[in-house]
Amino acid sequence: MALNIRFHNTLTNQTDTFTPNDAPLVRMYSCGPTVYDYAHIGNFRTFIFADVLRRFLELVGYDVKHVMNITDVGHMTEDDLADGGGEDKMELAARRIKEDKKSGRVPEGVVQNPDDPYQIANYYTQAFLADAKTLGMKVAFEYPQSMPHATNCIDIMQDMITRLLENGHAYQTDDGVVYFSVESFPDYGKLSGNTLDKLRGGAGGRIDEQTMAGKRHPGDFLLWKPDEKHIMKWDSPWGRGYPGWHIECSCMAQSLLGSDVIDIHTGGEDLTFPHHECEIAQSRGASGKDSFAKFWMHARFLLVDGQKMSKSKGSFYTARDVFDGKVTGRSVHPAVLRFELMRSHYRSNLNFTASSLSDAGSAVKRFTDFALKAKSECNDQPAEIDLNHTMLAAFTQALADDLNISGALGELFAWINDGKDDAPIAWAACLQVDRVLGLLDLEDQSTSEVDIDALCKALDDARATKDYASADELRKQMVDAGYDVLTTKEGTKAVKKLA
Ligand code: AMP
Ligand code: ZN
Repeated sequence: MALNIRFHNTLTNQTDTFTPNDAPLVRMYSCGPTVYDYAHIGNFRTFIFADVLRRFLELVGYDVKHVMNITDVGHMTEDDLADGGGEDKMELAARRIKEDKKSGRVPEGVVQNPDDPYQIANYYTQAFLADAKTLGMKVAFEYPQSMPHATNCIDIMQDMITRLLENGHAYQTDDGVVYFSVESFPDYGKLSGNTLDKLRGGAGGRIDEQTMAGKRHPGDFLLWKPDEKHIMKWDSPWGRGYPGWHIECSCMAQSLLGSDVIDIHTGGEDLTFPHHECEIAQSRGASGKDSFAKFWMHARFLLVDGQKMSKSKGSFYTARDVFDGKVTGRSVHPAVLRFELMRSHYRSNLNFTASSLSDAGSAVKRFTDFALKAKSECNDQPAEIDLNHTMLAAFTQALADDLNISGALGELFAWINDGKDDAPIAWAACLQVDRVLGLLDLEDQSTSEVDIDALCKALDDARATKDYASADELRKQMVDAGYDVLTTKEGTKAVKKLA
């Protein structure tokens, strides 16, 4: 099947044909979480978009090397300004946790010592990995190889800063702060449209005396700041201090993916400027190449009930809030949240509502019921099929069209309704589709807490010996673990409930 893959590229502002530099290898980098709090469902919208993109490329035969960083230093609260400002988000977290502990809002164990930023970072990294695995994000299963911590990469950041100073893209002010000189890089502004002229006028930068101190252009951004008072600091040729936020992604992308030029870079729409604009300037400034990432793909924001998530309105939800039933009043299966976060096009806002979550639950149930029925009917003996299968061909064609997920799902559900394939083919096709959707995987993971096959067998044995008390107890155990217990000709079968 000839597949012409086309993705919207923020850099060219058009839909371009995707051809990786070193096919079948695809080098893909995604900006990851800042580990100062639990990740929210908006963060996961962007992360799951990247996961679906990667899984689609794998389905059609690419070998994807995917790196996602963990930001544990240097991400400032005023990150919408080119030169950052405010305080480090880890500092904010330390204060918040101390206050929450004092007022009893968090249990003592959450972060033992909030004065230790590594403990904060470690706590929220582990929480992120747990949530990301629960939601089936492949990159989280490859931690730590695929998910570097910024604080472990300070030396490569210092190397890049040294190179930028040597080749005239960076300078040091009288106060010792190292800045990237945006005027040294004529392509600055190509990604976001924030050209040097616009920035000089103050857009996205600052021009007041205090923050301009020593800078040559308002758009110049921080590479290294000597600062003895910063929450995390390292020795450097420019004094003891901390790196700017943007440099970490430039370094980790190039060094972990093993190339100055990568194929795809993803993130949420807010990262286009300044973060990604600055990444391009640094990476190309250091490598001297005319490209850093060939494709820049940005996910639009998730909204809750049509509005930005807001703490004060109580509409700011973490993934765990959703799983635990804090949002809808009943617990939500991870497969349902994953499906809800992936099912609308990544370049349109996703409007998260309780009713759309409930629709997602019905869709997931339709798919998994169909798939598991086919699996059981063919005794888990899938036929050998390839992507030329009619539904799979239409499913991949839709995804090849800038990840048209609703088109792809439309093909899937029309085929399910049709129900014409026999069980071995149907099960094989579901397995292929699920390499992208990742829903059946979550089923398998969530069944690992109880040995469900052993319980089914024990229930059959109890019935055979007329031990109805034990049989009732075993059935209850399975229902409590979230299963529908079915009595079939072959004996007891348990199917995980989804919503
Ligand atoms: P952060 O942990 O703040 O560094 O953000 C991690 C990722 O989540 C980035 O790619 C952001 O662009 C993205 N992001 C933040 N808020 C939202 C939202 N409401 N919807 C979608 N993506 C978001
Ligand atoms: Zn980044």
